[in-house]
Amino acid sequence: METILVLAHTENDGSLAKSAREALHAAATLHKSLTGSKLLVGLIGDNVQAAASSIAACPAAKYFGVTGADFNQSRYATDAAAAEALCKAAQATVVVAPATSRWARVLPGVAQRLGGRADTHVTGVAAVDGKISVNRWYYRQRMESSQTRTQRPWILGIDPGSQAPCDCGAGTAAVEMVAVNLADAARRTTAVGVREPKADAQTIRPDAQLLFVTGAGWTKKQADGQTHVPAAEKLILGFLKAARASLGSSKSLVDLGGEGQAVLPFLSHLNQIGQTGATPRHAKGLSTCCHGEEPHTVGWRFIGERRAISLDPNCGWARGKADVLYVADAFKVMARVNELLAT
Ligand SMILES: Cc1cc2nc3c(=O)[nH]c(=O)nc-3n(C[C@H](O)[C@H](O)[C@H](O)COP(=O)(O)OP(=O)(O)OC[C@H]3O[C@@H](n4cnc5c(N)ncnc54)[C@H](O)[C@@H]3O)c2cc1C
Repeated sequence: METILVLAHTENDGSLAKSAREALHAAATLHKSLTGSKLLVGLIGDNVQAAASSIAACPAAKYFGVTGADFNQSRYATDAAAAEALCKAAQATVVVAPATSRWARVLPGVAQRLGGRADTHVTGVAAVDGKISVNRWYYRQRMESSQTRTQRPWILGIDPGSQAPCDCGAGTAAVEMVAVNLADAARRTTAVGVREPKADAQTIRPDAQLLFVTGAGWTKKQADGQTHVPAAEKLILGFLKAARASLGSSKSLVDLGGEGQAVLPFLSHLNQIGQTGATPRHAKGLSTCCHGEEPHTVGWRFIGERRAISLDPNCGWARGKADVLYVADAFKVMARVNELLAT
């Protein structure tokens, strides 16, 4: 009989992030298909009451909490101690957690402390004939596996964006507090502040409908023999602002900075899509001035509808990588698109 624990941390304002609701959805679906299983929720944060009540209508039988100022910030020592205490209090055999950066660095260590196992980047959880299996991708999203484990507790880090968030409503949840005795050493690391780009400089938007990808062509010499980097910058930023798209890039373009060439200053390696970059999830993607080579397009695995604009009719996009390829000058196309968006 499995005891499934959804393990989540609150955000700074005490709410639950979408990724936590996604983990809850995966766990609740698993619970429904596993006869006799129990669903429990464990929350960590300064105060978890509001978060627990916000999901009170979910099928969880019980809520546990580890609370206090020590558990507000992301810190390995306190997060691992809290997660370990919650797993023990719930006597969890399966732990379903959102793979946020905060949890991703803690969960394998917690599995080690509990004598269990952790699987990361889980994109699907199911039960067939009473046996739990998880899905995960390998070799840069080229192969998908379905795997099972007998070891318990089994900790699953659910990739954000891979599940529908649970839409269970609010109510009043009773939270059973779990005490954690922290050694002074666990408080050694302190967060002194947060440094982040200004809201309008934040170009990576995982929740955007559209991924807009820029390739090296934007900085290459054009038909007139000149480069037009300032114009490219204006067109790209104008489109991002109007469409609220997330900005991705080919490796060649983000590498240019290191090669001392004219660059688009708002791009960094964090924007890179592909084999050595990210594999984001968006409903649609539009590639511009990019050749669509395999090491790049492998990062498009989870993009729904794919379109590309390239001058080259023989580029990778034309060879089965895109649903629609516009063989056209992206400077002209995007100028017109921006005009249309402005009206
Ligand atoms: C081990 C390894 C890992 C790699 N990992 C990655 C990765 O993670 N991500 C990645 O992106 N790459 C990766 N690469 C590099 C990859 O193979 C390509 O070199 C890279 O994706 C090419 O970038 P690009 O298409 O932007 O540039 P280019 O190949 O230079 O293509 C530019 C394109 O822009 C077009 N163009 C120019 N002007 C215009 C215009 N006005 N309008 C429309 N089109 C125009 C050109 O016709 C051309 O097709 C990797 C390579 C290796 C070996």
